[in-house]
Amino acid sequence: MRLANKIALVTGASRGIGRAIAFTYAREGADVVVNHAASAAQADETARGIEAAGRRAAVIQADVGDKAAVDAMVDRVLREFGRLDILVNNAGMTKVCPSIDVPEKDWRRLIDVLLSGVFFCSQAAARAMFRQKSGKIINIASVAGMGAFPERAAYGSAKAGVIELTRVLGCEWAHRNINVNAIAPGYIKTYIIEDLIAKGAYREDSLTRRIPQGRLGKPEHIADAAVFLASGESDYINGQTIAVDGGFTAYSYLESWLQDKHDQ
Ligand code: NAP
Repeated sequence: MRLANKIALVTGASRGIGRAIAFTYAREGADVVVNHAASAAQADETARGIEAAGRRAAVIQADVGDKAAVDAMVDRVLREFGRLDILVNNAGMTKVCPSIDVPEKDWRRLIDVLLSGVFFCSQAAARAMFRQKSGKIINIASVAGMGAFPERAAYGSAKAGVIELTRVLGCEWAHRNINVNAIAPGYIKTYIIEDLIAKGAYREDSLTRRIPQGRLGKPEHIADAAVFLASGESDYINGQTIAVDGGFTAYSYLESWLQDKHDQ
């Protein structure tokens, strides 16, 4: 087991990528704290899955954009579990809107949750990690923080900010034996993507056409990378962002060339 007896906190673990990370961590021997904002029943289901893998679980409701709630969450983890070895900043949401029309409250909310939330959680966790003299922080960024995704200005800006924050904190806290790295998922089949497809923001075939591997990713693909970045196997990696995207960000050539290959 690669995470035996570690204590992990995964934000936004009531479904999707966060839930897959929670389950994979439990299978690798970690106790996992499941954070969510509004989906209590789904978070409980995640906790039951962790327990079914033979590990301890707890559910903590907290909006990661609310610093006081984040500090209280981390205090509770430390009270109940005694330490915090791994923080996964996964909680997220998105909105698609032409930039000219984005309401102020939507801009502020996305930046609060996606960028400030990552900072607040990292800061609270790092205080404990400083005392422990070790820790792993894994930020779930996005390929939308690596290139332009029109009509997603706040989301992409926040995710680009997360990639920069990963570099800064990775370098700033390296001498404390803390690793801060990020994963940039491509298109992963979860609620976020299914909801955007249902609302007509995407067609699934137009996504897969642009992906060299010709298919959407699964939450488990992200979870596997998150295990690597939480384990001793990544001890000399710091401040980095790994794209887990089926080749999406590596590819800059014609969509028609890919389409020919997919059709073969
Ligand atoms: P998802 O299925 O919609 O899950 C999002 C999770 O975040 C839920 O557990 C949700 O719980 C939680 N959450 C949302 N706002 C929160 C808040 N303010 N405080 C605490 N928890 C909150 O989405 P997903 O696809 O798994 O996304 C997970 C992460 O991957 C996000 O950061 C997303 O940006 C990133 N990502 C996803 C994709 C993709 O293709 N799916 C691609 C790139 C990056 P509640 O319902 O309780 O709020």
